Amino acid sequence: MNILEERIRKEGIVKSKDVLIVDKFLNQQMDPVLFHQMAEEWKTRFKGVQVDKILTVEASGIGLAIVAAEVFQVPCVFAKKTVSINLVGDVYTAEAESFTHGGVNTLMVSKRLLNQGEHVLLIDDFLANGRACEALLKIVQDAGAVPAGIGIGIEKGFQTGGKALRESGYKVESLAIVKDMDKDNIQFEDNPWLTQKFGKNMEEKKKTETAVKYTIRNASGEDADLLTELRFAQLQAEGNVLLYDTRAEMRTYFRKHLSDGTYRAWIAEINGEAVSAAAVLYQEYPPSIDWNGAHRGYVTSVYTRPQYRHQGIASALLKEIIRDAEEKKLGNLWLMASPQAKHLYESCGFSVDFPGNDTYMEWFGNLEK
Ligand code: 5GP
Repeated sequence: MNILEERIRKEGIVKSKDVLIVDKFLNQQMDPVLFHQMAEEWKTRFKGVQVDKILTVEASGIGLAIVAAEVFQVPCVFAKKTVSINLVGDVYTAEAESFTHGGVNTLMVSKRLLNQGEHVLLIDDFLANGRACEALLKIVQDAGAVPAGIGIGIEKGFQTGGKALRESGYKVESLAIVKDMDKDNIQFEDNPWLTQKFGKNMEEKKKTETAVKYTIRNASGEDADLLTELRFAQLQAEGNVLLYDTRAEMRTYFRKHLSDGTYRAWIAEINGEAVSAAAVLYQEYPPSIDWNGAHRGYVTSVYTRPQYRHQGIASALLKEIIRDAEEKKLGNLWLMASPQAKHLYESCGFSVDFPGNDTYMEWFGNLEK
């Protein structure tokens, strides 16, 4: 299963036999990490194809199209569905029957924004009967531009759009093709992901792009204030409601447990500023008889200030935690991962292996006595 199919299986809702709701990651709530992966995949699939501009339809295509435009390094234009004062000059228009509300939308693109001879890649979230794409293609043709291809998030293969567009000679690259769906099951056509980038390659790319110089050090009781500040920022960023200001208690906790060694933390600094931290809480369990799992580590408080993310800092901190666990001959580390952070932990050797719980991740180390 490719990563988009996995998300659809996990979070998609089959509303009726031909309507799929993916508001958790693609439509209303959008997952930028997934969008980036999708855009990288289109980039791979359209390798060698000239793309000068990306065109989509408002509203649900815009998020994907703008991320794709950043990856292709080209501008992104969207066709408007309503006349408004910020649509200036002459417009290209095309009518498209709306799959979602059944009426007819007039798509409009200002003539100033599409140029003759430009190679235009269409991007949209869904492909059903192909009306939206047909209308965009008409606009591209009216502008004297060249259709470079069509990148689709989810194609419903049991509807007619994909077949008709491919038969007309367009290169249609849908990242997930639903063969069949009902409330209990979604079947996909075989559609392997070609971009093996995510995780490792993307982190490597970011590292070379930014080459941020950071240093990592082990925290001591003296860092209680700093760790309190970072934990407080993290809890707020995660959307927790501030019912109690527990910063004084946090400080006391950190001072006590950083000193007695049951809580170990690492801090990354750039020019003396703490930008990221990660910690492990060592716990002693009753010994078992089939593995030496008496000591386990709970990985907690992994937080990077927003402006320093995606630069490999958190994974460098996690490597410190793993190194410490290996030194201590610890059998196992565990954590609860948010969907956005899963690939980070996977790239550091953690995996989901608890049936029915895909946030619980573990790393298994040296199990020798
Ligand atoms: P088409 O024009 O290909 O018939 O339909 C494509 C458009 O309808 C897309 O732009 C998308 O916004 C919407 N759409 C089609 N099918 C679905 C669906 O199953 N779920 C959602 N959320 N949107 C859909």
